[in-house]
Amino acid sequence: MDKTILIIEDEVAIVEILTFNLEKEGYRVISALDGEDGVRLAKEQNPDLILLDVMLPKMDGFEVCKYVRSRMNTPIIMLTAREEEVDKVLGLELGADDYVTKPFSRRELLARIKANIRRRVLDDNTETASQEEGVLRFGDLVINTNSMGVTKNKKPVDLTPREFELIKFLATQPNKVFSREELMEKVWNFEFYGDLRTVDVTVRRLREKIENNPAEPEYILTRRGAGYLFQTV
Ligand code: CA
Repeated sequence: MDKTILIIEDEVAIVEILTFNLEKEGYRVISALDGEDGVRLAKEQNPDLILLDVMLPKMDGFEVCKYVRSRMNTPIIMLTAREEEVDKVLGLELGADDYVTKPFSRRELLARIKANIRRRVLDDNTETASQEEGVLRFGDLVINTNSMGVTKNKKPVDLTPREFELIKFLATQPNKVFSREELMEKVWNFEFYGDLRTVDVTVRRLREKIENNPAEPEYILTRRGAGYLFQTV
């Protein structure tokens, strides 16, 4: 699903270059040349992120920011032209999530956009997850068995499908020891003939991704001679 970015900026040349670059990155782009139109589009289209200029006709960027923030949690990146504007963005506590100073580099802006959209998605996931079935929470580790996503300290953890199946299997039956043979059969879905070290290797990789200190794991523990377990406190 394409993410929609709303650009509110009165300099047509900037709108054009931003639109071109963002569309190239796969975003859907809509734009407004003044503050009033920007607010209208924000309400109608509920974009995933807003790029907001400060000096705008009809309604300036500060007012737009305040207005949008009072009604929606859309991330807002302010496009500021001068240091004074930066001071004002920070000082007014308008609720802007970020700002970039013109002239900005394409790479920097894209990185900020990505980071702000991701943060918003994670916040949303965390909010809905609390009442959602299939979401397992262990302190700062969250395993969403519906979306097959794992986050650690709200940051996504990149797991292979097998790593995910393994942590899901262990975490849905916490504090219970499973032998490597059992894990082979349940997680790898075949009767065991193969190399049990596959299990050890996968556990090790998983620990490197989810444990604070993989050498002293807090989640996936080894019971020597017995197997592995997912520990909850
Ligand atoms: Ca302007």
